[in-house]
Formats: sequence, structure tokens, C-alpha cells
Amino acid sequence: KGTKYRNFPMVPRVIFGSGCFDQLGEILLPARKHAQAPMIFLVDDVFEGKTLMGRIPAIMEDRIILISAREEPRTGQVDALVRRIRSESPYPPSGIVGIGGGTLLDLAKAVAIMINNEGPTEAYQGWDLVRHPAVYHVGVPTLSGTGAEVSRTTVLLGPDRKLGINSDHTPFDQVVLDPDLTLGVPREQWFYTGMDCFIHCVESLNGGYINAFSRSYGEKAMELCQEVFLGDLSPEESRENLMMASWHGGMSIAYSQVGVAHALSYGLSYVLHIPHGLGNCLVFQHLSEFYPEGVRLFERMMKKQGIVLPEGFCSGLPEEELDLMAQVALEMEPLWENALGEGWREQVGPERIKDIYRKI
Ligand code: NAD
Ligand code: ZN
Repeated sequence: KGTKYRNFPMVPRVIFGSGCFDQLGEILLPARKHAQAPMIFLVDDVFEGKTLMGRIPAIMEDRIILISAREEPRTGQVDALVRRIRSESPYPPSGIVGIGGGTLLDLAKAVAIMINNEGPTEAYQGWDLVRHPAVYHVGVPTLSGTGAEVSRTTVLLGPDRKLGINSDHTPFDQVVLDPDLTLGVPREQWFYTGMDCFIHCVESLNGGYINAFSRSYGEKAMELCQEVFLGDLSPEESRENLMMASWHGGMSIAYSQVGVAHALSYGLSYVLHIPHGLGNCLVFQHLSEFYPEGVRLFERMMKKQGIVLPEGFCSGLPEEELDLMAQVALEMEPLWENALGEGWREQVGPERIKDIYRKI
């Protein structure tokens, strides 16, 4: 029928297992260009003073840069990091290693691209705009759920939009999946980011773009999420399964698309700077008209895990802000089309969306 299929890259190397982070040094060795070309470790500053710092295999001219994940990654921040890395060494780096949650993984991917491409970073927000391959880059997740460790995008807040650098050069060359690194994650954060994965599955499996490839990953991720959030796993099994759920959830949306929750969460985070995982949960609880089965499961998971979502974010918001949020959400056309089909515009408009926001 003349269908044009997408041909996309996958992470070529992955190591998995409790304590495997200690093999990072030997993994990086063949990627080192020469003694003066440093490895740059971008590390979530939540690890400052923690034992993880001493386990980072930084040698010779390598640099460890601590970065706060309190704010989502910005294009200007990527430009500044690239300038700093270039100014601190006369030789281009051997590679970039991101250690942290989705925020640090996205920063590492973006910096690796921008080391080999002319700035500014905002010029590459969009689809397939990156010309030169990124420098070698490694992702080490310390928080499970976003799927950023497998995805082909890095979501950045630019001067006038929040948009990913979607390209064949974005995925990591190597991922290190050590479930023990997620040990210290605060309980709420664990739930919110875990639900990002669960919601990826619901949106992918219930969307019109679904196909056997996406379903095979989405169903596995969904099963793992239910074991983690509704079952009675040991803490160790739970960490392992959520890490693999995140991976499969990310693979599932690679070949399909997210849906209503992500469109609305995007509006929330654009206007109110609510973090991605929490924003998804705040929105998803009110989406039973779109995802009845998914929302029922979500409610059971909240109850079982004793999670109470914060409220009062939008109730007193001026009308213009709600309008802007609805506008941003409605601009995510492929997400709506995936969720509701080609005739989605007849089903949703600003009023229906603002009614959902007002409940948050
Ligand atoms: P995050 O990286 O923003 O981290 C959330 C909090 O958890 C931070 O305070 C961080 O310091 C802390 N944290 C992380 N690991 C920890 C650990 N082991 N112990 C204690 N604290 C720890 O959270 P996230 O939900 O993983 O990522 C959200 C970001 O990911 C957003 O910027 C979003 O846009 C992005 N994202 C990207 C993709 C993609 O495909 N590229 C997909 C979904 C989301
Ligand atoms: Zn998400």
C-alpha cells in the first residue's frame, strides 16, 4: 500500500545486573581516544558526598560535573556545558557519561550531540536536524521509568518551546543498567517516574498507532509495572523489574506514540513547570473517559502504595494561563491522533481540556 516504515536505531550495547556499575571503567577503556581526551561524567548532584562518587572511574584528564535535576534541561544549559567542556581541555572529549534520572540522561545525550555540531542547541530541536554523529555517549539511569535510556530523543526547554532533539544520533552507544543505583530514590519520586512508564504503556497499547512491535514491548512493560506496583516483590526484584519495565516502555513508544496524558502533561509543565512524572500522574487520574481500564489500575496502584497526589495547582489559575496550557496541549497533534484517531478535533477542544485542568 506504499506505507513508508521508519528505520530507527537501537542502543547497541547494554549491561544489566546488580553492581554492574563497577564495570564502567573497563567498558569505557576502548572508547578512550588518547590520554588527553577526557571522559566527561555528568552526574546528578543528589549524589554529592555519596559513595557513588568514589566509584566513578574518572582517570587522567577526566572531569566530573555535578548538575542539579531540580529544573528540567534547557538548551542554554547545554550550550554552556559544551562551552565549558571545550574550554577546559584542548582536545575534544572521548565521550560523555550521564548518571542520573531522565534529566541527566537527556542532558548527556544533548551535550554529546552538541560537542560535534555547531550551536546553538535550539537549532536542533525537532526531527532529524542533526548533521554530524554525536561523540560516544553512555547512559547510567539511577531512577526508572522515563525510558530516556533507550529513546531517540532528548527533551529540552528552549527559548520558545519545549521540544526534543529527535535524531538517529541521539540514542546512547552504551547503557549501564544497575538496579542498585536506584536504591536511594525518595518514595514519591519512585512512584511518579514509575508511573511515567505505566502511562507510556497505557497510551501506546490503547493508541491507533499500535502494531505488533510496540505491543510486544508495551505488554511486557505493563506486566512488569503491575508486578512492581500491585504485586509483592522483594525490594531487589522490584528495582530490577522497574528498570526493565522502563526499557520496554521506552521501546514500545519508539515505534508508536504517547497520548492524551502526555499532551496534557506537556501543557502543565510548560506553564507551571511541574516535573514530567508528577504532571503525568496529576493529569492521568482525571482521564477515565479516555483510558477507563488504565485509570482503574492507576487508582489501585496509588492505594496499594499509599500515594496521595498533591492538588490545587490549577483551580485558582487565571483564564489566560489555562488557555495557554490548552493551546500547548492541542499542538501535540500526533499524540491526539494516536489516542483518538484522525477525527480527534471533533472530540476535543480547549473547553474540554480546560475542564480537566481545573480539577488538578
Ligand atoms: P529527574 O531526572 O528529573 O529526577 C527527579 C529527582 O530524583 C531529582 O531530584 C533527582 O535528583 C532525584 N534522583 C534521581 N536518581 C536518584 C537516586 N538514585 N537517589 C535519590 N534521588 C535521585 O526525574 P525523571 O522522572 O527520571 O526524569 C524527568 C525528565 O526526563 C524530564 O526532563 C523529562 O522531560 C525527561 N524525559 C525524557 C524522555 C526521553 O525519552 N528522552 C522521556 C520521558 C521523560
Ligand atoms: Zn513520559
